[in-house]
Amino acid sequence: MIEINNLSVLYEGNTVESLSDVNLSLQKGDFICVLGKSGAGKSTFIRCINGLQKPTSGEIHLNGKTITNAGENQLRKIRREMGMIFQHFNLIPRLSVLQNVLTGTFGYRPSFKNLVGWFSAEEMAFAKSVIAEVGLSEMMDRRVEQLSGGQKQRVGIARAMVQKPCVLLGDEPVASLDPGTSNRIFTLLKEMHERLGLLTIINVHDIDLAKRYATRIIALKDGKVIYDGLPKDFTEAE
Ligand code: ADP
Ligand code: ADP
Repeated sequence: MIEINNLSVLYEGNTVESLSDVNLSLQKGDFICVLGKSGAGKSTFIRCINGLQKPTSGEIHLNGKTITNAGENQLRKIRREMGMIFQHFNLIPRLSVLQNVLTGTFGYRPSFKNLVGWFSAEEMAFAKSVIAEVGLSEMMDRRVEQLSGGQKQRVGIARAMVQKPCVLLGDEPVASLDPGTSNRIFTLLKEMHERLGLLTIINVHDIDLAKRYATRIIALKDGKVIYDGLPKDFTEAE
């Protein structure tokens, strides 16, 4: 589903590459946890996949389409196929759960407060069904700033899912949540992954979490892939 060939990133002003000759083939059905210490290149890796970061060299293909040399218009279309969740949620605090989730349908609109007319009955019903799936039906009209961290990430997941993505990307989505909440978020992600047949790629720094949920672990160190395989064979020493 995603082919990565000779991918390298050297940020301007740096002397050492942040990603160095990465070659990977990522398949539909993989639930991948990307492990690595702070600075290993995890975030750069995710941002290359969704086109936020242009690599210095190498290529990424999503279902045969090249992401790495796509123009802005084409990139916008490609990004619609990839849902993304973030460490700090990236929600709009003063808007409601439903309004935030609807931003995943079209992106933010200036007069968003007035929802009537922007969305079809089908889109509205679909957004509500996704909110129910993440367990927030009761909170639909609550402003996001009033929610707990775990609830905010559930809104983030619902916003990604209304895009009907084939790939779900997460950049440290549980790094600011406590262990119990992190486990519940991963359980939800795994359920959605299996039901929708996604390719899921999530950065984590918690090895136990990765071993519990991943079907495949990719470990990065100094921008290089130092492990790519089954969770059961991964040891922390790597
Ligand atoms: P991780 O997500 O594993 O913490 P990052 O991808 O954020 O790793 O960073 C990898 C390396 O690239 C680090 O050394 C970091 O300082 C560097 N880096 C990340 N973003 C930039 C940037 N915009 N400009 C310069 N260096 C960067
Ligand atoms: P996180 O670990 O959550 O990604 P960071 O503080 O490492 O948070 O990075 C925050 C932002 O700063 C990211 O967009 C990253 O690309 C950028 N960044 C990280 N390291 C550097 C750096 N050395 N120079 C410039 N920008 C950087």
